[in-house]
Amino acid sequence: MNACKSRPFSIDQASAGATIYARHAYDTAVSTTLEIVGEPSLPEVKMHLVAPNAPATARVTANDLCIKGRSSSYVRHVCIDLAGTPMAAQFHAGQSFGVVPPGNDHQGRPNKVRLYSIASPTWGEDGHGQIFATTPKRLISEEMITTPGETQAHPQLILGMCSNYLCDLKPGDPVQVTGPSGKRFLLPTDPSKHDYLFLATGTGIAPFRGMLQELLAGPPAGSPWQKSWTRCGSRVELLMGAPYNTDLLYDQEIQDLANSHNNFHYHPVISRERRADGGKGEYVHQFLERHLDAFKDMLQNPRTLIYVCGLAGMQIGLFRLLAAKGLSAHYLTIDESIRDIPADQWSDEQIKRRVRHTHRCMIEVY
Ligand code: NAP
Repeated sequence: MNACKSRPFSIDQASAGATIYARHAYDTAVSTTLEIVGEPSLPEVKMHLVAPNAPATARVTANDLCIKGRSSSYVRHVCIDLAGTPMAAQFHAGQSFGVVPPGNDHQGRPNKVRLYSIASPTWGEDGHGQIFATTPKRLISEEMITTPGETQAHPQLILGMCSNYLCDLKPGDPVQVTGPSGKRFLLPTDPSKHDYLFLATGTGIAPFRGMLQELLAGPPAGSPWQKSWTRCGSRVELLMGAPYNTDLLYDQEIQDLANSHNNFHYHPVISRERRADGGKGEYVHQFLERHLDAFKDMLQNPRTLIYVCGLAGMQIGLFRLLAAKGLSAHYLTIDESIRDIPADQWSDEQIKRRVRHTHRCMIEVY
């Protein structure tokens, strides 16, 4: 449960925190005593209440498209009722869960569990933690296949097995679930102590939908979470990357939140269309760089937490940008071997191997 109390923030504490944290980042000898400054205190969460080898039967209650417009990318909002399973009311926004699709794989073995992000706040879609939602995207691709006895490859349609299974489920259908899992990609115990920079690509928006509801919208009437919840007045910024405007997910819902909460700003970032000012499409880290003046204070502020969710590799551009602009102290630890190389010259490989994120930068990408 995330109660959000508003508490004034002291600039003096903030700057002291920045110095101490910078020491922690490079000096592990002092980390045990100093690491509390600026670091989030995360809630203790339940994990693996239902194991993959003994999944629980849940039931689909709704299944709707959640893309903004007509698009060849089919992403759905699937609601799942956990009533009667050990997972009911035992998950947190930001956690994941497993789905075990029926049937066997191509080698005749039972299908294995696949992980999906929970797209709901901790109180779920119903306010009682019984129903949660996820955001599966139909995986549709074409591969060149050479069948035995043939010399030439031919194109074959490949359908992602589990995402299409989930997208096809109808209200009332059973679904085998496991989890929950994940103990780091969470909102802090007291959300008012931090500001939030959320970076999503595609279905990576799922955990942020839950977190935004938890920070801003609050539980519905009759929810047991209502009495302990307070709206979070912290600064919250969401950068949402999608190929086309029509691919934006939960767009109306997020715009409505931005319209009714002055402390929340929503920035759709479109990669394959020209911007309103005529500029080229861009990625979330390029948007951040173009608007760095508006984000710099926030990034330097020890209250700020960065959360990144979506495509594997999307963190690389962000890490390079933070380091190149001298903004990495709170969020990254940089290996000695590349510290003398200008960050904008780091290769992707160097970033993958030599740059680590701190507890103030949460990354969920795959
Ligand atoms: P999508 O609709 O294709 O959107 C991805 C957007 O990111 C596109 O605009 C794409 O641009 C852009 N992009 C490509 N490379 C990038 C980079 N290096 N940095 C920043 N932006 C980049 O996305 P999707 O198909 O839904 O895929 C979402 C991904 O998130 C999947 O891989 C999924 O597994 C992952 N995901 C992870 C979690 C998790 O870890 N918990 C949860 C949900 C989703 P172009 O295509 O124009 O190049």
